[in-house]
Amino acid sequence: MEDIFFKSDRYIIGNYKRFKVAFERGEGVYLYDYNGRAYLDFLAGIAVNVLGHSHRVVVDAIKKQAEKLIHVSNLYYIKEQADLAELLVKNSCCHKVFFCNSGAEANEAAIKLARLFDEGRYKIVSMENSFHGRTLAALAATGQTKYQKGFDPLPEGFVYARFNDYSDFLKKVDSKTAAVFVEFIQGEGGINVADKGYIKNVFEYCKDNNILFIADEIQTGIGRTGKLFAYEHYGIEPDIITLAKGLGGGLPIGALLAKEDVADRFGYGTHGSTFGGNPLVSYVSKSVVSFVIENGLIDRARRLGNYMMERLDEVLQNNPQYRGVNGLGLMVGVVFGESDYADSVVRRALENGILIGKAGERTVRLEPPLIVKEEHIDAVVDFFGRLNED
Ligand SMILES: *Cc1c(COP(=O)(O)O)cnc(C)c1O
Repeated sequence: MEDIFFKSDRYIIGNYKRFKVAFERGEGVYLYDYNGRAYLDFLAGIAVNVLGHSHRVVVDAIKKQAEKLIHVSNLYYIKEQADLAELLVKNSCCHKVFFCNSGAEANEAAIKLARLFDEGRYKIVSMENSFHGRTLAALAATGQTKYQKGFDPLPEGFVYARFNDYSDFLKKVDSKTAAVFVEFIQGEGGINVADKGYIKNVFEYCKDNNILFIADEIQTGIGRTGKLFAYEHYGIEPDIITLAKGLGGGLPIGALLAKEDVADRFGYGTHGSTFGGNPLVSYVSKSVVSFVIENGLIDRARRLGNYMMERLDEVLQNNPQYRGVNGLGLMVGVVFGESDYADSVVRRALENGILIGKAGERTVRLEPPLIVKEEHIDAVVDFFGRLNED
């Protein structure tokens, strides 16, 4: 692998801090590096590979569609895109879909749509510790200064409210507020779960004051939390939902879903994307989402997520650094006392053939593919139980 590291460091811009490993192939919950060593993948490409690696459904869909048609542009009608949109609409509270290629792009579309919706309003309220992407407007919506440093001036009109604090939210909204952006579970911010009462209050306030409620479900969507979409846990219906990560089962795709009256503001020429929803990604995405829905993977995420959280809490009781476990379904965070310790857990996991990640300052995140089995979870839990031993 040394030659891969060398060539990468030499020719690829160094904006990522990478672990010193490269994978040659994957199968199910396992990845294999160039020495043939197996790793249990409990990060799933950052909540992307919902069906794990080399899943028959994904591979067959790619092959089948690639042989027929890959790209034509949105100058023409696209059957596969229409099929995917229908599937998403029939399984959500929304009525229309716009397709793009990534999470940041979906959020950019949401910000533009919110500003178009009521042209007298332009402010976007998002949450402290949120993450909405790296493009300029999505970055402005991201409530973490560490990502924004050096990129001034960011687009105007973004304000941040404390997460899970309704009184702070009320201080941040005014007659110019177009929309509020919410992650039901902050992913990059540390696996922080939104309180039911908080979301209900924010939602009701938005409804009463003509503010759009935008759910960033880029990480929580597609079954990850034990519902197809995390908003279903909260008894509310967002005006706009943004999706990406798990939506393509590994292929790059983003989507914005909106209620009819909101969606209709995106008239001819208002927005677009060359690649968005091309036949290949749309067909693969439809195959992935249908498989997740039809094969009990959503209930399984809930059941196995609960199992994983209970077992982790059990084996970590005697770890003096342990502060608790958070999450919903297979989006799980283990909180430790110190940032350095959380880093060391991720590093030691890798040494032990387990891929996990960090979220926020002191949280280790586990987001395995939805096809994970109890025995895989047991192996990872055992690793956490042995943290004290050396
Ligand atoms: C990953 C993520 C994004 C950004 O998605 P990209 O595809 O990397 O642009 C936005 N919001 C949330 C909640 C995410 O987890």
